[in-house]
Amino acid sequence: MNSISNNIHSIKEQIPQHVNLIAVSKFQSNDSILEAYSAGQRLFGENYVQELCDKANLLPQDIQWHFIGHLQSNKVKYIAPFVSMIHSVDSKKLLLEIEKQAAKSNRVIDVLLQVHVAQEETKSGLSPEECTSLAEESISLGLHHVRICGIMGMASFSEDQNLIASEFAAIKSIFEKVKENAFFTDKNFCQISMGMSSDWRLAVSKGSTMIRVGSSIFGERKTK
Ligand SMILES: *Cc1c(COP(=O)(O)O)cnc(C)c1O
Repeated sequence: MNSISNNIHSIKEQIPQHVNLIAVSKFQSNDSILEAYSAGQRLFGENYVQELCDKANLLPQDIQWHFIGHLQSNKVKYIAPFVSMIHSVDSKKLLLEIEKQAAKSNRVIDVLLQVHVAQEETKSGLSPEECTSLAEESISLGLHHVRICGIMGMASFSEDQNLIASEFAAIKSIFEKVKENAFFTDKNFCQISMGMSSDWRLAVSKGSTMIRVGSSIFGERKTK
């Protein structure tokens, strides 16, 4: 077995069955992705629209592509025909554009609301208050081509395990609040996307249902 498949098997052995592993393949070659695919991996995460479209064109059709990067409304149309889930909804404008483009493709697209809890200003996402109010408002928007399935968040870039743990707990509690206030009867609202290479174990212990792991699977990324 090569190291990519070893890494995938090793992570899968350590997470509960209900937790999904998203292999984050940004900047990774199609060959590396195919190695992961051969190991049984079907969920892949990408951050850039052009890169995702190029890869989706060439790689196996049963890959489920998760978009995890910042998404501009004017680029939704390129991924709407095939994307499996968008983790990074951070505005009503973007939500409505996904609805519009999914309708054109005759699809229903699963999305997560991205919430900002980390200390760094650079990380994007809705404030906890914006997140709960967008979730509540979405009920009256009459969305038929978007399904809001949960929350995505990132912890601070820090060595402080207590800080990271408290941020994951905060993401979980925002999930609970949105569920209670807006999606109480909606069984689709069940996903908490949190945890990356450095902190996925902690994220799982705090209730993550989707971990997004890149470098621990593929090795260090080349930067763009
Ligand atoms: C790149 C990226 C990841 C994966 O990061 P690693 O540290 O390589 O595991 C996860 N989530 C998001 C939003 C990313 O941009």
